[in-house]
Amino acid sequence: MTIEEARNGQRQLDRLAEHPPAQRLERVSGWGGASDSVSYVYRPSTIDELRRVFVAARQSGLTVGFQGRGNSYGDAALNGENILVDLRRMRRILDWDPQQGIIRVEPGVTLKQLWQYVIEDGWWPPVATGTMNITIGGGAAMNVHGKNAWKVGPIGEHILAFDLLLPSGEIITCSRDENSDIFFAAIGGFGMLGCFVSITLKMKRVYSGLLKVEAVASRSLREMMAYFDCHLQDSDYLVGWIDAFASGDDLGRGQLHRATYLAPGEDPDPLETLKVTNQTIPSTIMGVVPKFWLPFFMRPFYNNLGWRAVCWAKYLGSRFSDGLNGQSYLQPHAHFHFLLDAIPFRNAYGPGGIIQYQVFIPVAAALPAMETLLSLGQVHGAPNYLSVLKRHRPDMFLMTHGLDGYSLAMDFHITDDNRPRVRQLAREMDEVVLNAGGRFYLAKDSTLRPEVARAYLGEETIDRFCRLKRRCDPHGLIETNLWRRVFGGRGREIRH
Ligand SMILES: Cc1cc2nc3c(=O)[nH]c(=O)nc-3n(C[C@H](O)[C@H](O)[C@H](O)COP(=O)(O)OP(=O)(O)OC[C@H]3O[C@@H](n4cnc5c(N)ncnc54)[C@H](O)[C@@H]3O)c2cc1C
Repeated sequence: MTIEEARNGQRQLDRLAEHPPAQRLERVSGWGGASDSVSYVYRPSTIDELRRVFVAARQSGLTVGFQGRGNSYGDAALNGENILVDLRRMRRILDWDPQQGIIRVEPGVTLKQLWQYVIEDGWWPPVATGTMNITIGGGAAMNVHGKNAWKVGPIGEHILAFDLLLPSGEIITCSRDENSDIFFAAIGGFGMLGCFVSITLKMKRVYSGLLKVEAVASRSLREMMAYFDCHLQDSDYLVGWIDAFASGDDLGRGQLHRATYLAPGEDPDPLETLKVTNQTIPSTIMGVVPKFWLPFFMRPFYNNLGWRAVCWAKYLGSRFSDGLNGQSYLQPHAHFHFLLDAIPFRNAYGPGGIIQYQVFIPVAAALPAMETLLSLGQVHGAPNYLSVLKRHRPDMFLMTHGLDGYSLAMDFHITDDNRPRVRQLAREMDEVVLNAGGRFYLAKDSTLRPEVARAYLGEETIDRFCRLKRRCDPHGLIETNLWRRVFGGRGREIRH
């Protein structure tokens, strides 16, 4: 340790000692469990309490970061040695119009609360992430997408307006017509411009509580992408699971799920299928084994050999049960969307956690680039344990990850042994993605470097974002670990 590092460390300890009460200090982790930090955590229930946090931050010289439910995998919702505002207590539904499907919510309302509130009136959230535990504020800040991203875009496309609390205490309303520059930058702006305190969204009309689902095995990534291409028009949702251990001619093999809504009149008893009680995800596997036991059973397989066997068995199972002609079945919306909530897989990874690497690559370059990404993991002896393929479209949001192409999300199991290897792998994968004209997803990120962010976003976009940040947050009060890591000293330039 250099003298300068030691001094910095001492300065941080001094600041922690002299600022908000030590009882507020908590160790907070990203969802993946591979990054954490200690923060002063505040949990306001009202806008006035939130305003007082900003005052306290100014007085103590600390920065403020926001957290919804902490479902971002890396450090997006961490603010080490500073203040972290946990927004889960601001979770009231403020207004609901069941005729128009328009809802106004506080930021801490979860996706679970939202779908359970609207479904019995015949509506469903237009965008559903793989977990229902996210908050609407966190979802807006990351501009999250679902398995229908190529068709309906990210959640921002369904947000009609929001109120943003600025560090000055002022609240501004933003929509496509009012403060539109901030509207398009705060959605997807990873919480850097202000705090969403209310969000108005338009829901999607549904005529049944069920979706028509088809599961199809696919022998390679090429075959999977061809299937996506064929079914973009006649599907409402498409998602592919990839066996990242398969190589050679089988590279990128896996299983696809395709779903469509039921048309009006197709469900003989929509009132029944739309009931919340008929959407509940079972808490046992095959009606017997409680889900929370699963991580204990799975843990012995969480190594390269064990997981290769699991993926192989899953792939074979998908071929023999469904074959390439996939039979369709009916499934409740919640079961289809929130499969990951049904499998408590995170605990099985153990103390090292997971780093997820999700990238977006234009259609023309996606196949070779994604084949290279999958092969690189194998070459480095760090194949990923869960790879998911989705299709996307471009959007109007300033810091967007959206483009006309595919995304590949890959979960890397982190151990003390492989941590440096995964970091090196991420560097090599970054080059592949940049050369293919791709983009990265900050909600999942743990490895992005400032030069890579500059390369994919462009200096001009980052400058525009920083100018808006200066307007909303002139003293640079809002920061997170991710902001400091990826956007370097930019936050500090504008503090005094
Ligand atoms: C199992 C799993 C599956 C997932 N599947 C998907 C998926 O299918 N699609 C997808 O797009 N993402 C997916 N994600 C990622 C997740 O949707 C995003 O990380 C989302 O932002 C998490 O919401 P959260 O409420 O937990 O926010 P957090 O993770 O707590 O925060 C996310 C960001 O929002 C900011 N923020 C939070 N609240 C506010 C607010 N009120 N005002 C301003 N800024 C705020 C935070 O500072 C942070 O930068 C998944 C995550 C998990 C764990």
